[in-house]
Amino acid sequence: MIDFTLTENDKKALARTRAEALICRKHARYYDENEAELPPEVLPETEEFEKNAEDIPAPQPGDTPGPVMMALHSIGQTWGDYSVRLRRGDGGLGNAALRAAGTPEQQEKWGGLTLAMAITEPGCGSDPSMVSTTAVLAEGSDEWVINGEKIFVTTGLRADGAVIWATIDKSAGRAGIKSFLVEKGTPGFEVSQKEKKLGIRADDTTAYVFSDCRIPRENLLGLDETIPKKSSGGFRGVMKTFNMTRPLVAALGLGLAEAALDFTREQLEDAGIEIQYGSGLGGLTAAAEKFVRLEALYEASELTTLQCVWLAGQGKPNNMESSVCKAHAGSAVRTITQGCIEILGALGISRQHLLEKWARDCRITDIYEGTGEIQRLIIARGLFDYTRADLK
Ligand SMILES: Cc1cc2nc3c(=O)[nH]c(=O)nc-3n(C[C@H](O)[C@H](O)[C@H](O)COP(=O)(O)OP(=O)(O)OC[C@H]3O[C@@H](n4cnc5c(N)ncnc54)[C@H](O)[C@@H]3O)c2cc1C
Repeated sequence: MIDFTLTENDKKALARTRAEALICRKHARYYDENEAELPPEVLPETEEFEKNAEDIPAPQPGDTPGPVMMALHSIGQTWGDYSVRLRRGDGGLGNAALRAAGTPEQQEKWGGLTLAMAITEPGCGSDPSMVSTTAVLAEGSDEWVINGEKIFVTTGLRADGAVIWATIDKSAGRAGIKSFLVEKGTPGFEVSQKEKKLGIRADDTTAYVFSDCRIPRENLLGLDETIPKKSSGGFRGVMKTFNMTRPLVAALGLGLAEAALDFTREQLEDAGIEIQYGSGLGGLTAAAEKFVRLEALYEASELTTLQCVWLAGQGKPNNMESSVCKAHAGSAVRTITQGCIEILGALGISRQHLLEKWARDCRITDIYEGTGEIQRLIIARGLFDYTRADLK
């Protein structure tokens, strides 16, 4: 039975994440306004904080399972700020792909590095089967030669390397697409400037260009060079990765929405507007009624997200649930942050407060790791057995 009641241990661990998050929040505006700068690997307050903070309790039997706690910690982190961290070292999306599809030797060799994940190209976004970056085995050598361009690579500047998608046989379609491990500094691997964005400006999003970039044959993730006739080859490994990362993207967005709700609640209370629960919506002021509806939306979204990671922790299939929670959160966090702005008016868009930033930052929830539209296509396939061709 699913039970999300937190133990005392869970609460202590989450309280520490929230305390860290509050420190990150102090730096949030600076890195939003100074977009060209990267937040430091370790914030100046870190040593002091770690000296005084209570130790994180060792997990006890009965504590909330790991994947659920991971989602709750993600919510707690972005409740402070989406991109600034007290101490970095959490790897990139490429590390998740390595864990899902790498051989034990590859995990050993690359696991300690921060790896970005580079799928998107100028002509390939929602439909990754359009990947046109090529990987060709050089004749008479044990090397792949990579050519192509990748855009919007998260952690693209900080990363030590990347897992990139490339086709080894364009005529084979999806089946010809494979993932490769490429280290920064490899000749022919060029990194461009940090992208300027609407939100999550402290995140280093960048583009990569590969020009005759030669990498060892053993850098093919999973080492499977075959091109299966029917299956989707390299897609399978990465789709497995998404089933865990999509709910985490949902959780990251929810942290921003929760911050927006907390700020709005404080402002309403300061203005003497009472938010009462349990006696119906009819007796509430219009502002309080709207607020309670936004809170309900948050809770629905959080529950679909926690259900999805709980399934992952049980080893149960969660393909459709990962799309449901991502699609739901992608839209909910926008409704919530915009709703908070509507309730607060000018206060909501003032740069003296972070609400307008949270409203910009949360837009990404519905874009990367598959847009809301794409999640809804996946849900339609799961619910009604539609095929890819039916939904074209
Ligand atoms: C800040 C940021 C960070 C990112 N980080 C990464 C990263 O680390 N690695 C990486 O590989 N990519 C990354 N991306 C890219 C992201 O995954 C893509 O932007 C996303 O998949 C959408 O692709 P697209 O932008 O090419 O849009 P398109 O695919 O061109 O879509 C445009 C619009 O059409 C809609 N659409 C497309 N196809 C359909 C359809 N069949 N039915 C209905 N609607 C459809 C989409 O939902 C969207 O609204 C990042 C993007 C951003 C903005």
